[in-house]
Amino acid sequence: MEKSYDAVVIGAGIAGLGVAGLLQKAGKSVLCVEKDASPGGRMQGFDIEGGWRVDIGLHMVELGDKSSSALLVKELGKEVLWGRFSETVEVFKDGKWRNLLELVSLSQNDVEQVKGAMKEIASMDDREIEANDARSWADWLKSRVKSRVARDLFEVNGMIMTTVPEASSMAAGEILYIARENLRKKRDFLTAAYPKGGMLGIIEPLKAAFEEAGGELLISSEIDRVLFDGNEVEGVALKRRGASPYPESFYIGGKQVVKAPVVVCAVPLWSLDSIIDLGDESSLLPGWWLKRYKDLKYQTTGLIGYTIALKEPVYDKPNFLSALRLERTGMPFQAFVPSAFDPDVSPPGKSILQTDCVVEVKQVFDKFELNRLLDSMWEDIKELFPGIEKKIEWKFPYKCIGCDGLARKPANVGIFKPDVVAPGVRGLYFAGDTYRGRGLAVNSAAVSARLCAERILECGA
Ligand SMILES: Cc1cc2nc3c(=O)[nH]c(=O)nc-3n(C[C@H](O)[C@H](O)[C@H](O)COP(=O)(O)OP(=O)(O)OC[C@H]3O[C@@H](n4cnc5c(N)ncnc54)[C@H](O)[C@@H]3O)c2cc1C
Repeated sequence: MEKSYDAVVIGAGIAGLGVAGLLQKAGKSVLCVEKDASPGGRMQGFDIEGGWRVDIGLHMVELGDKSSSALLVKELGKEVLWGRFSETVEVFKDGKWRNLLELVSLSQNDVEQVKGAMKEIASMDDREIEANDARSWADWLKSRVKSRVARDLFEVNGMIMTTVPEASSMAAGEILYIARENLRKKRDFLTAAYPKGGMLGIIEPLKAAFEEAGGELLISSEIDRVLFDGNEVEGVALKRRGASPYPESFYIGGKQVVKAPVVVCAVPLWSLDSIIDLGDESSLLPGWWLKRYKDLKYQTTGLIGYTIALKEPVYDKPNFLSALRLERTGMPFQAFVPSAFDPDVSPPGKSILQTDCVVEVKQVFDKFELNRLLDSMWEDIKELFPGIEKKIEWKFPYKCIGCDGLARKPANVGIFKPDVVAPGVRGLYFAGDTYRGRGLAVNSAAVSARLCAERILECGA
């Protein structure tokens, strides 16, 4: 028998669980479908034998308790418990980790310029920020900050905020927005915290809020496609395995139809064509939207790195670590020790080290280039953390794309991102870090979830 709901949400990442929870709380009947065995998407966490809790790669939440992610969870009647905030940023220089501020010697004039720029940023309104969405951060800094030293300081802070291989090519609008929110809410240019229990500290309360309100979460179930009746959404088709013994690459399984007048695609832009026909001639979406989609689809960056479990710490302070360019790998490097922020994510006395390098998407897909980069990255890591090899309990390399949603380059941010409402197709919506929303990745996904739920409820669906 066909089942029906007021809305189906495809994907149970922070955005999908957020929209699903908000709609269910507003009295709608909602089904949220996730293809993986557990919810969380790029914020999944895993418990590893021996008492370790790890996230997918290096993850921190900008603004912590004052973040859009924390507000989303609160709006759903739950709370995120926070570990520590990052105290400072340390940069690897001349064989040592050093406090960023100790590395730059600022004259009185430089200090005045830094203060002046911060004051200007804190007072900017949304329109002023939007006006800088198509401009680079380097360009904005050049026009506002005369001192080279002060500009360098801002550039490094900008690089930590975002993840594009060339820090100077980031969109000014997005950095200004993130800095403004941090200055207003925390009186600092950039702050970040680690939830207790890692990213699951955000995902678990979202899941609980949705299910406690009566929502249905279906995991290990993949949506095959969104179904339409003319220019209106009709529901979704779920993949169902039949009796065929063939592996999936040789066999097309059956489908189960679920009816709903509203479907939210809470999957990233690069996965959208696996659930909606986005062909030039056949798609229901207008030509201008398809062109924008094609331009943006691979405008994302990749991360490669190592998650390392250690018998004892190689670094034990709750700081964010950065090397602007690794000597062998030639890429920007970031790291932190989750167990220094929340000791419960590792067994007593032991430590987890999360590391990553920002790379281009094509470097993630080229197996040989990827292996070369990972090998040279490991050589660099041994130099950054002397003696690490003797302390390793286990380690694994990882790779991913989409660590930041759309790469925050000029004209990829703010109003340049696809809206949460699909044009010309009634009942079709999008949510997640690759659609309209602001803030550092998880926060941008949370903002988009709220925006999407608001739009759906405004339509009276
Ligand atoms: C290694 C790494 C490090 C990161 N570090 C940070 C950080 O430090 N700070 C930060 O703010 N952000 C960070 N991010 C980004 C952050 O994780 C994302 O911005 C956020 O998780 C995006 O959430 P989302 O809900 O938009 O998308 P996703 O989490 O990608 O959720 C989409 C979901 O849809 C599901 N799905 C896809 N297709 C289907 C289908 N056909 N049927 C059913 N389900 C489907 C997927 O399985 C997934 O669960 C990092 C990401 C990675 C990968």
